[in-house]
Amino acid sequence: MANDQTFGPHRARDVEPIKTRDEFAARLRATPIETPFDYDEDGKQEGFLRLYHSRETNGYGYVPIPVISVKNGKGPTALLVGGNHGNEYEGIVALMNLARDLDQASVQGRVIILPSLNFPAVMAGTRSSPLDGSNLNRCFPGDAMGSPTQVIAHYVSSVLLLLADLVIDLHAGGRSSEFIPCALVREGCDEHETAELARLADWFGAPISFVSKGKGGGGSLTLAGECARQGIPCLTAELGGGETLSQRGLKLATDGVRRILSQWGILASTDPRAMTATRWVKKGPENRLHAHVAGIFEPRIELGEYVSPGRVAGLIHFPDLPMRSPEEVRFESSGYVLSRHIPALVQRGDELCTFVTDAIR
Ligand SMILES: [Zn+2]
Repeated sequence: MANDQTFGPHRARDVEPIKTRDEFAARLRATPIETPFDYDEDGKQEGFLRLYHSRETNGYGYVPIPVISVKNGKGPTALLVGGNHGNEYEGIVALMNLARDLDQASVQGRVIILPSLNFPAVMAGTRSSPLDGSNLNRCFPGDAMGSPTQVIAHYVSSVLLLLADLVIDLHAGGRSSEFIPCALVREGCDEHETAELARLADWFGAPISFVSKGKGGGGSLTLAGECARQGIPCLTAELGGGETLSQRGLKLATDGVRRILSQWGILASTDPRAMTATRWVKKGPENRLHAHVAGIFEPRIELGEYVSPGRVAGLIHFPDLPMRSPEEVRFESSGYVLSRHIPALVQRGDELCTFVTDAIR
């Protein structure tokens, strides 16, 4: 699909895109990250972004963030991101597999792949960076003069998004939760744009899809939020969880990304029969249960289960007060369980589960 036809009128929102080479060169000078190749070169290029970071054991070294660019002539640019959170594995592996598979002849336009965007977090197996404790997906638009994670966010916001017509950001539940594989897109600035964004999720083909209006918590933006600010269509996927690598989530990431790229005309067409229809749901701020006390959570729900008001989601036990009866956590409204907390030990305020209701599109 020629993105200029579909998304062109909506690209300029809070940020005016400037696509001259001079402007791009200025962006590259403004980031402390060194780029290993020219993104405008045709062919398959691979290397490492160099994020120089002085630390106790290596004063003058750099953090190597893998980047692969495959370009062939004119066409839209897709930016594919895994490892935004370091312990969410389906997207990382799916994008490494894709990066090895693609060559110049298989692409029309450009695919830029960062399978492990927050590379320090990926190597540490953590959600946030071990270098500065920051959660990359709460750091956008980032800061060129900031901490390592803020510098990565700034590079994405100011350099890569200048090139991108489409962004796919692959996540999972990490250590804290597990998800039914799902996709989310943001609300567009009008009905037309919302429908086009929804089409990305239709093509991705996750069992569940929904339109997200949230910022992901906190004051800073997620990558999806930054894409919305710049008027760039973005699909985010949650592919599993529990710091595991699920075959189901890996297959969805592999096939879903290829389906979107083929619909955009970047890859040759895929077999449409392999696509399953996604179920559109709604998820509001009230569609989550939190722990109101600390203790050991005994879940009484399964992913995908339909729950009604009054249904017990689980019990919280008190290891310091063994004779005290556990506290029941009950649903106050109905829906399908979308995600579930994984570690049994919970603190007051922890999210125990999210649930969703059917949406009509
Ligand atoms: Zn994540």
